[in-house]
Amino acid sequence: MFDGLSQRLGSVLDKLRGRGALTESDVNDAMREVRVALLEADVALPVVKDFINRVKERAVGQDVIRSITPGQMVVKIVNDALTEMLGGGDTESELNINRTPPVPVLMVGLQGSGKTTTSGKIALRLKTRDKKKVLLASLDVYRPAAQKQLAILGEQIGVDSLPVVDGQMPVAIATRAMDVARKGGYDVVILDTAGRLHIDQELMDEVAAVRDVVTPAETLLVTDAMIGQDAVTLAREFNEKIGISGIVLTRIDGDARGGAALSMRAVTGKPIKLLGVGEKLDALEGFHPDRIASRILG
Ligand code: GDP
Repeated sequence: MFDGLSQRLGSVLDKLRGRGALTESDVNDAMREVRVALLEADVALPVVKDFINRVKERAVGQDVIRSITPGQMVVKIVNDALTEMLGGGDTESELNINRTPPVPVLMVGLQGSGKTTTSGKIALRLKTRDKKKVLLASLDVYRPAAQKQLAILGEQIGVDSLPVVDGQMPVAIATRAMDVARKGGYDVVILDTAGRLHIDQELMDEVAAVRDVVTPAETLLVTDAMIGQDAVTLAREFNEKIGISGIVLTRIDGDARGGAALSMRAVTGKPIKLLGVGEKLDALEGFHPDRIASRILG
């Protein structure tokens, strides 16, 4: 991922880096190219505009043109602004599960986004790294095999899943999951909700009802990094209707341009918490804005 963006930005910045002197129009030209590169990588337009403005403001404020190494200064300013767009700093936004157990974690997103796989990945990570006792529960009563898929996944990683009760609806399943977890001494309950092909009111109402009964510590929007410009609408909708606490990007290992997914952070103000980097259940990484920024800028 980010290959196209990385190449484009890399060549723009390389041109600047070595320059001993820059004029204001050099900087403007470079910013125009940065703007095109970001748009081509699917970063949402308002996010691009904000980004460019920020870079220009700083370049003027720091009097780049009169400095000794103007090219390098612009590169640094772009790097800093990109890191900020991605969430700032070098700290990984860990899952916030410091609460009286059992702690509910709600997984939301469209069908096929990687929700179920990510539920398994998070369960495995909590189990092995944080030594937590995790319960997996599928609230997807619409796709016949969904609950079974999660149970099989649980078996693979040695994590319990909530036994299926035929005919039970999502809110009731969520309530039962919390009950079972309380009685069974579980630390975390991962609730995998049903996804639809498109956002629809019924899905939102159902997820909102589940949210209201369990009050999740984390509501993670799982999104395929390949989603393109729709990512922004999706993130905004889920954030307004459900209130998300973080974003998980999946299929980072694919050849997505990545920009749209990244602008979800800017649009919702919610952190990207984790990255899915493969189909295997240990293919989950924390998100480090500074590392991603340097991966993009090369
Ligand atoms: P759900 O419908 O949202 O629950 O999606 P699934 O978890 O069933 O995932 C759909 C497909 O995407 C499966 O084939 C997964 O193996 C695959 N998948 C999920 N996450 C990743 C990832 O990070 N990388 C890759 N390459 N594949 C993934």
